[in-house]
Amino acid sequence: MKIATLEQPGRFTLADGTRAKTPGPQEVLARVLTVGICGTDLHAFEGTQPFFSYPRVLGHELAVEVLSVGGGVGDLKPGDKCAVNPYMTCGVCAACSRGKTNCCAKMCVIGVHTDGGMCDSIVLPAKQLYKVEKLSPAMIPLVETLGVGIHAVGRAGVIPGERAIVIGAGPIGLSVIEFLRVAGADIGVVEKMPERLDFAARHHHLQRFYPSHEEARQEEASMLVFDCTGDRGSMESSIHLLQQGGKLVFVGLINDSISLFDPDLHRREATILASRNSTPAEHHKVLDAMERGEIDVSAWPMEIAPPESMHQRFPLWLKREAGIVKAVINWS
Ligand SMILES: [Zn+2]
Ligand SMILES: [Zn+2]
Repeated sequence: MKIATLEQPGRFTLADGTRAKTPGPQEVLARVLTVGICGTDLHAFEGTQPFFSYPRVLGHELAVEVLSVGGGVGDLKPGDKCAVNPYMTCGVCAACSRGKTNCCAKMCVIGVHTDGGMCDSIVLPAKQLYKVEKLSPAMIPLVETLGVGIHAVGRAGVIPGERAIVIGAGPIGLSVIEFLRVAGADIGVVEKMPERLDFAARHHHLQRFYPSHEEARQEEASMLVFDCTGDRGSMESSIHLLQQGGKLVFVGLINDSISLFDPDLHRREATILASRNSTPAEHHKVLDAMERGEIDVSAWPMEIAPPESMHQRFPLWLKREAGIVKAVINWS
């Protein structure tokens, strides 16, 4: 079987290997159909992902097809196409016991902390799989990407018509915009890359779109600000786009300190929220919205590539200038 291993930053090997073939109780053996590539994968390739160890088989945004099921698995059968929840959680920590499994203290992410889906087949706990009826394999990995968006919008608690602004129009920013639209918010966007700004504005018929914070600051501030950049300069100045009494949500993250001028927070009585991952309930909502066509991301600038091209394409996907918002590896 073909396995891609990220041996060290910048180096993939694609080799034949063997992996467990028999699913145990409550497990499923599944064929990997597609693997979405997200920031975590790109940063691991670049060598900038915090707390990441090599070698590692990447792949946490997966579309799979069930090959066989172990004992006690009643709701899945061979041939079922599924999305995968990559977040393995403990179920007993303070966060889990409050339903906040997205920030479990013992979070283990398939394809990040353990070997993932960049291989022909994988054994997974059956409870991590969500059966998909209609979506194409290229769209299924986006369930995880969009989960980050639905969670961030849920954190903010949007009121219909409320003025919101999203900073950064990459896959996470676009995911946030999708669910702000569903929630009925009045949406603006800040993005310095012209192609990304143009896509977000056109695709969502936005009236407010700005190439910089400075330009956005010329207009009325927003009650909700979502920073999806992971860029320190942007995160530190995002408070200036926030209205009095508003909420600032950090969806992107940076492996560094950020600093805010306290009077800027205090004067606004700002609420600062971090937003991390998503929960199984949110995955189900995303999947349902995608299957009903309420959310359709098929127009996003995507590239579908074969596993053999990864060593050559990853450096390009790291450069935002390449114009690819989402890359998906076609594994089958
Ligand atoms: Zn991801
Ligand atoms: Zn937990």
